[in-house]
Amino acid sequence: MAKLSIKPRTSVLHAKTGRNGSPSNGNGHVGLKIIQKGKKRFFEKLHPATLEHLGNYPIEDAAAVDQVLDKARSAFKSWSNLTLKARAKHLKNFRKQLVKDMEEVIDVICSECGKTEMDAIIEIFTVCEHMKYVEKKGPVFLADEERSTGLFANKGAYVSFLPRGVVGVISPWNYPLVLSVGPVTQALMAGNTVVLKPSEVTPRTSLKLAEIALRSGLPADVLHVITGDGSTGAALVESPKSDMICFTGSTATGRKIGEICGRMLKPVILELGGKAPMVVFDDANLQRAANGALWGGFSNSGQTCITVDRIFVQEKAYEEFVSLVQKGAAELRQGLRDETPSIGSMTFPKQIQIVEDHVSDARKNGATILSGGKKNVAFEGHFYEPTIVTDHDHSFKIMREETFGPVINIVPFKTEEEVVELANATAYGLNAYVWSKDMKRARRVARKVRSGNMNLNDVYSNYIISDLPFGGVKSSGLGKVYGIEGIRAFSDQQAVCVDRLGLSKELWWFPYSKGKQNLFRNVIRFLFG
Ligand code: NAD
Repeated sequence: MAKLSIKPRTSVLHAKTGRNGSPSNGNGHVGLKIIQKGKKRFFEKLHPATLEHLGNYPIEDAAAVDQVLDKARSAFKSWSNLTLKARAKHLKNFRKQLVKDMEEVIDVICSECGKTEMDAIIEIFTVCEHMKYVEKKGPVFLADEERSTGLFANKGAYVSFLPRGVVGVISPWNYPLVLSVGPVTQALMAGNTVVLKPSEVTPRTSLKLAEIALRSGLPADVLHVITGDGSTGAALVESPKSDMICFTGSTATGRKIGEICGRMLKPVILELGGKAPMVVFDDANLQRAANGALWGGFSNSGQTCITVDRIFVQEKAYEEFVSLVQKGAAELRQGLRDETPSIGSMTFPKQIQIVEDHVSDARKNGATILSGGKKNVAFEGHFYEPTIVTDHDHSFKIMREETFGPVINIVPFKTEEEVVELANATAYGLNAYVWSKDMKRARRVARKVRSGNMNLNDVYSNYIISDLPFGGVKSSGLGKVYGIEGIRAFSDQQAVCVDRLGLSKELWWFPYSKGKQNLFRNVIRFLFG
């Protein structure tokens, strides 16, 4: 059982503001309390760790979305005309301003997510590293790129990376800064303007971001933030005034967005859910693997798309690994921000309900809950204890569906073939982890696991290496962000061929003749036969 700090309930909390008041309206909002004022609807934002009321935010409708798209369109001309260097300079100023205003950002992230301060700081660190990469590499990757012309020495060839127009960025609540800033900066670097629709669960970080962007001197209308729920996001996707969508969120929503973009032939990047496998062979450094599992499974209360979720441990190492993880979990403390805990609260009630459902299904079907397995009732807010589950059957919900909470599952395996099958046994394919001192085996197994991203003897680090493209396969998404692949994904790629000689005509142009046909027959035989 995890040792947890006990904080008595206090009277400062605003329980009266109501928790999780409304059921879903079928428009994609997530059970937050909705307030109607005249014709306008607002959602109420509470501090998830203390239930303090943080504000009401408008649910903007399709007309409002169209209005900001028009503003972003009008800013597109001047922004896209800036040189790559000038855009990179703006992004650099934006990053520097973000660092100057770091304490404000930490406050907003901690209060709206219930994160620990360290988790917020790690998020800012990651954002800054990504921003620096985009400023530095953007001008290189987006400059015209010469291509070879093969046989045609009389031609020149290059690829131009052209801005698409207005990019709609739709982001989730679990990392409200990095998952907004990342696509936003890549889209801006490529010369697009942006309308950002943050999650209704975490609107405040994106609003703060827009404020910081303006303070940094980013031209007005280049970046817009519009608050709302799924209906607002859907309006952004469906409007013919948005030219591309970069969506990060659940697979269910991603599928809907993908369908609409497919119908409209609108370019789309889909960064979706995960159910990461971690394979631990018996020759691995077990202490490091256990520490990696604890941090990778429980930081941010496990609300991470790449969270360490299904851990497969080779039989000989199983008992020792479980005992190391159990011992580590017992030393973790949950708490409010000021207590410098290891784990904060979860971000909103619906997510706790999903975790409770998965754990209770596993328990009912005979799994063992080695620690945790329930809400931490020492707090008024949304805390769930770090939970370790063993003795599974692979049909359990907890082994197949995205849990997205502080829960790790540990399962023994015998052979390499068996574990590859287990690792691939879900619909997801985002991150994966393989641990072994035998690097030949680790790399061999890595190639057999169907995942967009892989870490060997490590957790999460692929995400901080900005030169690596990030994205999922299978039901975890389409497309990449970061790396050369991601930076270029926000552009139309125009392939350009240039004639160098200026002859009156090419050999294969009119007129045709028997002689010309025979000449080409012989050329084909000579070159390719
Ligand atoms: P979600 O799909 O419920 O919502 C994401 C965003 O989409 C929100 O802004 C929401 O308002 C909006 N939305 C909802 N319905 C919409 C619709 N019909 N059309 C357009 N927009 C709509 O996801 P969530 O609960 O906010 O986020 C958690 C999920 O995100 C998890 O599945 C997690 O794995 C995934 N995620 C993926 C990555 C990644 O990079 N692959 C990163 C973080 C989170």
